[in-house]
Amino acid sequence: MQNKELDSNPSLSRLRQELRRLIEELGRSLEVVYGRTPLVKGNVYEITRKCGKPNCACTRGQLHKSMVLSWSHQGKTRLKSVPPEKLAELSCKSEEYLRFRRARAQVTIIYKQLLDVIDRIESLRREEP
Ligand SMILES: [Zn+2]
Repeated sequence: MQNKELDSNPSLSRLRQELRRLIEELGRSLEVVYGRTPLVKGNVYEITRKCGKPNCACTRGQLHKSMVLSWSHQGKTRLKSVPPEKLAELSCKSEEYLRFRRARAQVTIIYKQLLDVIDRIESLRREEP
């Protein structure tokens, strides 16, 4: 009898649906974590600069362009130049790193929501001893 009552409790049924939805969302968020691609921390982008040579075209506004990887290490921004032949590969790995970190942030949010739903289910199912 008790189980029947709980089965037809609309709040409990909504919470169970919510629980399933969160678990599916968690699974989707974790897909990138199951991946095998190397991750590279940082952003790849183009910088322009002057080289310092007095007669170079860059003194007349034609700045030198190059691709760099930028990342933060112990609070400081680090830069590393990216040779053209490494550009595509490094961009992929850096984008994958961003996806990975976004997934991690998403997991912490879902985790809190899961605990909340579990606690609400417990309070609905719990009865006095
Ligand atoms: Zn120059």
